[in-house]
Amino acid sequence: MTEQQIEIQLTAEKKQKPAFDSLEFGKNFTDHMFIMDYTKGQGWHDPRIVPYQPLTIDPASMVFHYGQTVFEGLKAYLTKEGEVLLFRPQKNMERLNRSNERLCIPQIDEELALSALKRLIQVDRDWVPNVEGTSLYIRPFIIATEPYLGVAPSKRYQFMIILSPVGAYYKEGINPVKIAVESEYVRAAIGGTGDAKTAGNYAGSLKAQELAEADGYSQVLWLDGKEHRYIEEVGSMNIFFKINGEVVTPVLNGSILQGVTRDSIIHLLKHWEIPVSEKKISIDEIYEAHKQGLLEEAFGTGTAAVISPIGELFWKDEKLSINGGKTGELSKKLYDTLTGIQLGTVEDPFGWTVKVKEENPHLVKNS
Ligand SMILES: *Cc1c(COP(=O)(O)O)cnc(C)c1O
Repeated sequence: MTEQQIEIQLTAEKKQKPAFDSLEFGKNFTDHMFIMDYTKGQGWHDPRIVPYQPLTIDPASMVFHYGQTVFEGLKAYLTKEGEVLLFRPQKNMERLNRSNERLCIPQIDEELALSALKRLIQVDRDWVPNVEGTSLYIRPFIIATEPYLGVAPSKRYQFMIILSPVGAYYKEGINPVKIAVESEYVRAAIGGTGDAKTAGNYAGSLKAQELAEADGYSQVLWLDGKEHRYIEEVGSMNIFFKINGEVVTPVLNGSILQGVTRDSIIHLLKHWEIPVSEKKISIDEIYEAHKQGLLEEAFGTGTAAVISPIGELFWKDEKLSINGGKTGELSKKLYDTLTGIQLGTVEDPFGWTVKVKEENPHLVKNS
């Protein structure tokens, strides 16, 4: 199956676009979407771009009952020159297939998925917002659609991609957040699904998040599921600490999601010759480092915020202020460099950005 086989049906009526200077995250969707079906015995078939529309799905579809589903999240950025750039999109397609493997969902053709994504963005190109700090959030996802109430891998799936213009994550400049260390609930355990981007992980995290918010914290810091001692992630982001000149991040242990931002930061730090290591990090170590005055910075990393500095950690009735509650120098430098590469204003030494070409009008047919 190739890009040429993607059927394109254009909408008869374009939607009114929201104001690009006051976009909220994930609330507006573009004119079109991509869909492809899977049927056991036939494989993936009928890749198509169609007008954005509600789905008609059997209520017995397995996704509703047993959560067999995976998703991805990445962004497209409009450069000053009017080009549209993606950031390491192959990584997201690879990860989608790793999540598929864990959830017993058939593998997708990563090349085709990437082509489909580019075609969809070409069709909805005027939805890539042009206001500073904004971007087009891309949500590929797969759901199990076989109508069957038995617990087994589905024999039918739908792979879809939807697009949502989103506003600047930091409207008033990058601001450190307060984080509560979670010692009761766990996000994931080794052997579970923590390293897959699958819906259940997020449903299971809502309770702790809600309780932390009620106490005035913006996210929770997740500890490991067995000893409640080792640091895993913060909210739905990976986490980094700068201690005495060295940057550390929890090593991928099977229950931590492998962030593309995390990987990019490790590459950048190595490129800058700043010591960085992936290892098991206990919460006690962090408190000890703070006591000795060696904890310099802490930050979360992910596609949505890129870098989210941590200004305060709360654990066992103890508050620990990091860098006086202000954004650290390295956090700021990483943020500026990564967002600069994504926007094409900073040199891209690793060849991370991928251009979405202007639409070739001959390729669009209205069927
Ligand atoms: C998506 C996600 C991340 C960050 O991944 P990026 O590829 O950097 O956006 C980290 N942790 C969890 C739990 C996630 O779902």
